[in-house]
Amino acid sequence: MTGKTILILGGGIGGIVAARELRKHLAAHHRVILVDKSAIHSFPASFLWVMVGWRKPSAIQKPLALLEKYGIEFHHATVQSIDVDHRTVETDRATVHFDYLIIALGAELAPQNVPGLHECSHSFYTLESAEKLASTLTTFSGGTIAIVVSSIPYKCPPAPYEAAFLLESFFSQKAPGNVEIKIFTPEQAPLSAAGSQASQMLQELLRTRGIAFSTQCNIMSVNPLSRQLTFENGSTASFDLLIAIPPHQAPRVVQTAGLMNESGWIAVDERTLRTSHSNVFALGDVTTIPLVSGFSLPKAGAFAVGQAEVVAHNIATEINYKGISKQFLGTGYCFLETGSGRAGYISGNFYAKPVPEITFHEPSVKYHWAKVVFEKYWLWRWF
Ligand SMILES: Cc1cc2nc3c(=O)[nH]c(=O)nc-3n(C[C@H](O)[C@H](O)[C@H](O)COP(=O)(O)OP(=O)(O)OC[C@H]3O[C@@H](n4cnc5c(N)ncnc54)[C@H](O)[C@@H]3O)c2cc1C
Repeated sequence: MTGKTILILGGGIGGIVAARELRKHLAAHHRVILVDKSAIHSFPASFLWVMVGWRKPSAIQKPLALLEKYGIEFHHATVQSIDVDHRTVETDRATVHFDYLIIALGAELAPQNVPGLHECSHSFYTLESAEKLASTLTTFSGGTIAIVVSSIPYKCPPAPYEAAFLLESFFSQKAPGNVEIKIFTPEQAPLSAAGSQASQMLQELLRTRGIAFSTQCNIMSVNPLSRQLTFENGSTASFDLLIAIPPHQAPRVVQTAGLMNESGWIAVDERTLRTSHSNVFALGDVTTIPLVSGFSLPKAGAFAVGQAEVVAHNIATEINYKGISKQFLGTGYCFLETGSGRAGYISGNFYAKPVPEITFHEPSVKYHWAKVVFEKYWLWRWF
């Protein structure tokens, strides 16, 4: 029997899980190839802890080549073009043919889309930027920290709020009363896609901690000299330290392959993650899945994992002519760090009708430690 080639583009959260699950279900004569431009996987949920100096980068990283011991072929290469009609992908190293394609290339950050942003903002959305911000925070003597969400959608909707809580805790010990934290977001309300209970609880927590937040603020430009933000509605705000969640977009290679719909992301079947091209799947942050609530399924690792498991299972079922196909049901969870050694826990079903059924569990020490355990588990489980 001839072997099939399953090509996975992107060795991030979804790609790693898809590769491991496929290898578990497929005989050795089928090839599982994982391509990533980075040789090292960095666990994104811990970038916030790098920001406040609780983690060294090396503690949250693993070489992707470790996956080769499971029979996964790792190609350290940059994907340059995707041709779904001819079933080939060009990387900067080779042309790779596939029988099945899984696109898990995530979201690309585009700070250059907001004039002035790149020049004067910090971030924690990459490991390098979180490390740089950590060193800036050690010398920041006080003033206004503005946390700006540049556009929607962005990955991990709780992350800007987690950053604010962690920074509030950090400075209340280091420089009490010296730092004011303000969040500016285009969202209608913090965490609005998670429903009103989660949003209201989060707003209450922000108020209690003295963290200001302004909603429906679309950033237009940043003046690095006067340190001023200008929003589309004409309002302005000044800052001493700017932390941005940069604009997100589909990776360029996805854009040029013509795989996106009008949302700017890849449309998939919400339960099978199939695209409109046969044997081509997409999962995780690179996709768009509209919800009945009018929002889209948030870009979060928890969903990328669940989707990867379903896609891998179904491809293996098809190849093996054995088993029953599965569906992704829209359930997920995440921890929301609130500082002072506590975290909240958000869980639920985003596909529930007529509205998503999501619960925000009160912050506690237990959930903070659950998040720590999850980090260790992730780095052990998949490598
Ligand atoms: C600070 C922060 C905190 C977060 N916290 C949480 C959390 O607590 N819980 C949660 O569920 N989610 C969290 N997330 C979100 C989560 O990290 C993402 O939703 C998740 O990583 C998406 O998985 P993915 O596989 O779609 O994409 P990614 O994990 O981003 O992987 C995409 C991969 O594609 C590779 N790639 C891109 N372009 C190319 C190319 N042209 N050629 C080759 N390789 C390429 C990249 O190098 C990357 O490895 C957080 C994100 C951030 C930034």
